[in-house]
Amino acid sequence: MVTGGSRGIGAATVRRLAAAGHDIALCYRADDAAAETVLADVHATGRRAIVVRADVTDPDDVARLFDRAEGELGPVTGLVNNAGVTSRVGPFVDLTAHDLRHVIDVNLVSAILCAQQAARRMNHGGAIVNVSSAAATLGAPGEYVHYAAAKAGVDALTIGLSKELGPRGIRVNCVAPGTVWTDIHTVSGDPDRPNRIAQRAPLGRAGEPDEIAAAVAWLLSPDASYATGAILRVAGGL
Ligand code: NAP
Repeated sequence: MVTGGSRGIGAATVRRLAAAGHDIALCYRADDAAAETVLADVHATGRRAIVVRADVTDPDDVARLFDRAEGELGPVTGLVNNAGVTSRVGPFVDLTAHDLRHVIDVNLVSAILCAQQAARRMNHGGAIVNVSSAAATLGAPGEYVHYAAAKAGVDALTIGLSKELGPRGIRVNCVAPGTVWTDIHTVSGDPDRPNRIAQRAPLGRAGEPDEIAAAVAWLLSPDASYATGAILRVAGGL
């Protein structure tokens, strides 16, 4: 299961996991065409896949999403909590209550709701990978500190769940990307943000979605069988 698997890092993750032999359920909220394109790419690899329009902030939608995935593909073995949003870049004092709640809901509440559905259903072990952000430790001052706070919550969720679910054979890890070339920066009103951040990054550039997907796929795989509670920073040195 990959949430927000229709675009950006989620889409790259879906394509990489399909190439590694996974059957995949992916969800998205709005962009039907993007989701259908990724679905076709998975089918082209010969893997089974379904795409479900579901808002991961809605507990009923999340339960329906997991029901459909189980009904059509079998028991859920892995979850990638990838869906995320920012709001418009700007000073903290100008943050609206609506943007605050939306950002906390999509980045943090959704990860908790999806992890709960997965944990209830993973009766023979499994793996969960959360996608947080380097912002969780950098703070994103002047841009979106509420987003950074939500992602810090995702890091804490990873640590707590790894300890609670480890005895059941469920590994829980996290990837914390730095700035990556996706449309999330257009939504935040700062499409060129990756170029600006690149000047500060020790590696001198922003990341590509597939460079994050590689880390997610590793943590999901049996190669990471002794890794749980890890927060893997993939941020070009920032
Ligand atoms: P993106 O290109 O904007 O894609 C976001 C994905 O999430 C889309 O598939 C979108 O689907 C889906 N989505 C958004 N809200 C949703 C909801 N309520 N329910 C279900 N799906 C929803 O974003 P991205 O840059 O790939 O980001 C992926 C993850 O990486 C996020 O958690 C983000 O915070 C994190 N991250 C990104 C960066 C970066 O620089 N790009 C850096 C650090 C962390 P629709 O289009 O259909 O709505």
